[in-house]
Amino acid sequence: MPIKFNIPFVAGTELGYLHEVVDSGFFNGNGSFTKRVQAWLEQRYGVPKVLLTHSCTGALEMAALLLDLGPGDEVIIPSYTFSTTASAFMRTGARPVFCEIDPATMNLDWRDVERRITSRTRAIVPVHYGGISADMKELSEVAAVHGITIVEDAAQGIEAKYGESWLGTLSPLAAISFHETKNIHCGLGGALLLNDASYADRAENIWERGTDRSKLFKGLVDKYSWVELGSSFYPTELQAAFLMAQLEAIDENTTIRRRIYEGYDRRLKPMAASGWFALPHIAANRTINYHSYFLVCNSIAQSDALRKHLVDSEIQAFIGYVPLHSSRMGQQLGYTAEDLPLTEEYSQRVLRLPFHHKLSDGDVSRIADAIAEFFG
Ligand SMILES: *Cc1c(COP(=O)(O)O)cnc(C)c1O
Repeated sequence: MPIKFNIPFVAGTELGYLHEVVDSGFFNGNGSFTKRVQAWLEQRYGVPKVLLTHSCTGALEMAALLLDLGPGDEVIIPSYTFSTTASAFMRTGARPVFCEIDPATMNLDWRDVERRITSRTRAIVPVHYGGISADMKELSEVAAVHGITIVEDAAQGIEAKYGESWLGTLSPLAAISFHETKNIHCGLGGALLLNDASYADRAENIWERGTDRSKLFKGLVDKYSWVELGSSFYPTELQAAFLMAQLEAIDENTTIRRRIYEGYDRRLKPMAASGWFALPHIAANRTINYHSYFLVCNSIAQSDALRKHLVDSEIQAFIGYVPLHSSRMGQQLGYTAEDLPLTEEYSQRVLRLPFHHKLSDGDVSRIADAIAEFFG
């Protein structure tokens, strides 16, 4: 039996809530399930205001609008990330400034961030890769010195912590993803976490297609109108209902994922200790959410060969992100591969192993055996 890279989580309680939506006859969005999900997230993570979005991409686009970015502004972003971490900010006319990662974690290298700050830098966007927190203390200090806003791309970060703080609560604005490849999902979905509540009023307008319709619901105005450049940022009630069921199963989900992660660790840590490959460094003050399991191979050639060996053994394994700076879009922005040599090299050394709630201990064993076989 082939071992799949990902199988989206199903809690088993989704259909009951979907029936409730169908029976209610209210489908579009910003209804009772959307409000329930937002309240759940606000309470669980201690965030003053959460807005559910159709994607993490949408939440990042909202953050860019809230920061009033535009031509002439620069936003520092890891090159090792998903395309929309950059495109969300570029839509405003701002320029992405790509930054190196620390190969020990594949997260933003704060020293390189500091080097790339100019008088035009308006925002820094750390990604918590694999649900392992970026170096938030150092990044926050650098940002504070220069008066720059941090926007966390916490797409993969739900339930993970930096010290005592949940990922997504360490910056004024943060984005989470509920895409089906993430721990908890609703097909496509996301959330904007407004840790600085002073953004809330404008955020609601932007979210409501640029109108003050939210004020109508609160009885603050008697008709609503276009007040701001916004878009259609929220998901349907069907997605919110599906997501509510998933969130209620989040502890169970984490327990299952932890067991799988520990199964991998038990078998692969000794191999890493033998120097066959490296595992990401997880500092003592990081609580992870078991989002993914990846190796950092000793060379690109080794990573390619091992991936081929796993695929031949019917085990789906994938490389990491293809760097943004050397992509076709990156080249159009004037970057060449050599501009970020560490990202160029290490992105190709990353090998992501199957990780989903249906993975059995026998599957993990088979994957570990195949890796051991490769190294002979
Ligand atoms: C998944 C992901 C995104 C995109 O999330 P969507 O909800 O699909 O828009 C952005 N950034 C990172 C780091 C991601 O992992």
